[in-house]
Amino acid sequence: MTDALTLHPPTQLLDALCTCIEQDIHPLSAVAVAAGSKLFGAAILRKSDLSVVYADTNQERGSPLWHGETWTLKQFFEIPADQRPPVQDCLFLTTHEPCSLCLSAILWSGFDNFIYMYTYEETHHIFECHGDLDIFNDVFNVREGEEAQQASVDGTQAQVRPQYKLRSKRLVALSFAELLAAISDPEERTQYVAKVEGIKQSYGRLSEAYRRNLGVA
Ligand SMILES: [Zn+2]
Repeated sequence: MTDALTLHPPTQLLDALCTCIEQDIHPLSAVAVAAGSKLFGAAILRKSDLSVVYADTNQERGSPLWHGETWTLKQFFEIPADQRPPVQDCLFLTTHEPCSLCLSAILWSGFDNFIYMYTYEETHHIFECHGDLDIFNDVFNVREGEEAQQASVDGTQAQVRPQYKLRSKRLVALSFAELLAAISDPEERTQYVAKVEGIKQSYGRLSEAYRRNLGVA
């Protein structure tokens, strides 16, 4: 078990993850959204040098099971075994905190980690995609708000709800909010908060396109 935070400084991680979202994931999501899929994307990066092994996006138009994460995993395992790194040497990046299906798929694939930009609450409120929390609350035996954790990022409170164990011997789940909070220099932290905010604005525009496609906006 390796906590990504112990491998690289938070700024280096955020640089690599933000670049991956901007250059690898978002362009694919923009195309998929235009074709009627959702905007969730994912990528697999090497823990060692944070290089991108594979990135992809939601393909729900093909099957309701092809969320950004499950589709990325499927495609990753299509790469011949001798041409891809072992999963234990990789980080799993997902634009949105993974739903119960994807969380399990990530673990069943052998990953011991994932890092996400948007929380379930943001997915629920900003993107109006309610399935993640609804399934946890309606199907699993999860008590809402129990052991809720607060991460303070530049005066704003980012709430992480414990729908699953955030740290266990199987899994380290890390949010962008936690990475931002781990930057010790306040000026540097402000710069990175703005960097992440810029990416989130581009997702806001994608969300508008998705809603237009659905005819709900
Ligand atoms: Zn999912």
